[in-house]
Amino acid sequence: MTLAQALAAAAHLGLERLDAQLLLLQVLGRPAGERAWLLAHDGETLDERQQQRFTVLCGRRGAGEPLAYIAGRKEFFGLDLMVDRRVLVPRPDTETLVEWALELLAPLASPRVVDLGTGSGAIALAIKRRRPDAHVLATDRSRDALEVASANAQALGLAVQFRCASWLDGIAGRFDLIVSNPPYVAAGDPHLGALSHEPRAALVAGADGLDDLRVIAGQAPARLRPFGWLLVEHGYDQAAAVRGLLSNAGFSRVASRRDLGGIERCSGGCKPELG
Ligand code: GLN
Repeated sequence: MTLAQALAAAAHLGLERLDAQLLLLQVLGRPAGERAWLLAHDGETLDERQQQRFTVLCGRRGAGEPLAYIAGRKEFFGLDLMVDRRVLVPRPDTETLVEWALELLAPLASPRVVDLGTGSGAIALAIKRRRPDAHVLATDRSRDALEVASANAQALGLAVQFRCASWLDGIAGRFDLIVSNPPYVAAGDPHLGALSHEPRAALVAGADGLDDLRVIAGQAPARLRPFGWLLVEHGYDQAAAVRGLLSNAGFSRVASRRDLGGIERCSGGCKPELG
């Protein structure tokens, strides 16, 4: 079977062309950036083993498994992260949160930062990469997730500390910045069907999706230094509710920022000097 025929077979199975190209490159052991090579060499043939493997990978993708799990990797904020079904796949939308975090940290020397519910470690590692002087702690309730995150830290040579904890329970000291991309999908949300390959505990947060955001907003003020900030990611329709949670928790300068799709995707507030 030629590469062109393999791609045609994948299209026949209903796979998107880009996905099929990336899976084919994976089977050929070539980097994901080599799609142009594929086009230029589509008359070359796959051997029997490669053909079988391509069929298996197309089957997994066809069953809805995220490409990132099949590849075992996901790029986030310029970092090549190892991911598997123990952690949520990092989304480009979350880069908005990282950019905001870096802006807030810019004037501070050796800031203390904590990333709550770090999953693959994406946010914590992106911050540490840009701010080597920052003391970055990352927590997760899932030991499985922490294994993935610490493997990523090690592979990238980034000295982030990890702790198994539920939000800020048992976390000592005060921080200049608390960041989190917690679960925020409502338990009955129809979108969950499309997310069935990812860990439910990383996605769902009660009837309105705000259970964990409520806990974080409630715990954060006592764990922030004066003028420290809390930044959280949330669902596409939760910005007003989350701003309300932050204001009620005593935060000032409460605001939201939009993701690449123009959706208000993260919100934050500053702890006033007193209180
Ligand atoms: N952004 C994910 C989604 O809705 C949800 C991530 C989360 O719950 N933190 O696809």
